[in-house]
Amino acid sequence: MGSTIPLVGPGAIDIQNYSVGHLIDQSNKVWNEQLIRQLFLPEMVQSILNTPLYPQVQTDSLLWKAEKNGCYSVKSAYRVCVEDVVNNAHLRKPGYWSGIWRLKVPPRVKNLVWRVCRECFPTRVRLISRGVNCPSTCVKCEDPHEDCYHIFFHRKTAIDAWNAANVWHLIAPSLSQFDNAPDIIFNILQKLVDSHNSGKSKTSPRRMEESEPKAGPFRSDSLANSSPQTHDGQNTDNRHGNIRWRKPRSGRLKCNVDASFSTSSNKVGIGMCICDLEGNCVRSKTMWFSPLCPVNIGEALGLYHATRWINELQLTNVDFEVDLKTIADYFNKARGDNTKFGSIMENTIQFCNIFLTNSHVLLGGKQMRLLMS
Ligand SMILES: [Zn+2]
Repeated sequence: MGSTIPLVGPGAIDIQNYSVGHLIDQSNKVWNEQLIRQLFLPEMVQSILNTPLYPQVQTDSLLWKAEKNGCYSVKSAYRVCVEDVVNNAHLRKPGYWSGIWRLKVPPRVKNLVWRVCRECFPTRVRLISRGVNCPSTCVKCEDPHEDCYHIFFHRKTAIDAWNAANVWHLIAPSLSQFDNAPDIIFNILQKLVDSHNSGKSKTSPRRMEESEPKAGPFRSDSLANSSPQTHDGQNTDNRHGNIRWRKPRSGRLKCNVDASFSTSSNKVGIGMCICDLEGNCVRSKTMWFSPLCPVNIGEALGLYHATRWINELQLTNVDFEVDLKTIADYFNKARGDNTKFGSIMENTIQFCNIFLTNSHVLLGGKQMRLLMS
């Protein structure tokens, strides 16, 4: 970033001594906009100001960006090296490789298929190409050219085996399209996936519904456009007969939390709603903040603010229902996470342990959006 800092007159500011920390008003956890505008070009100013700062994140920490949880691992370092650091373009071979690894077959079969496609299966033709002194004729049938195509798709024993397995009719059409084993295999794999997918959509249309993106009244832009407000929710009659209401545990209340994200207004909206045993919304609150942040952080902030709100209302016996599995999982299993998301969640968990009584976080669903619509 250093090279893009324009100088504002000789010696005006000694940029060498500045760090990112100087650009932040630490007491309020907001960007020092005036200083940033002084130092950077307008488009850079906008991207800095659009980087969210979270008061919940108290300490700086080193983040390993190649892992979701921000913690270093050899596995991800290897991945970075192979994919980004070292140029291995010359080793890459185009093909439907994931089709091989997704096969539900023993690893040794995948390995065999991979070796054939990678053209490192030691057929006689291959051996000769690597300098081995041997004839190129097939060991079994005197065909002059023992390559993978011959071994797997051409010689009689192979075709008999495919026929016995009753799959030759699936393989044969690919042979007229391609003349080498890797292309034939990729083609067959692709056809298998295509037929699997079309079978799925025919037999279970519900699956498609489930995979549709979230779209409810609470996901729309309208919430984020409204000004901050708190209001007491009215007793919601059960207009939506299809809501499968999950009762709070006995003697407890339940607080549903949801966040909405508006790119157009660069805002995150948070809605929370406390429900009683009958599923009536007894209290609700909405709030928003800017700039936009990633979904997991927005939802984590939702839970963070909900726990504070519950505390302000002097309630303790409340459980929470959220929309994002990551949130519920983190709360319940509390795995170490070095990221901002982790910091916010740790903060919330600590707060719950101190101020709330045995609060659970459950994975909910659309109840809240429906209740508030
Ligand atoms: Zn042969």
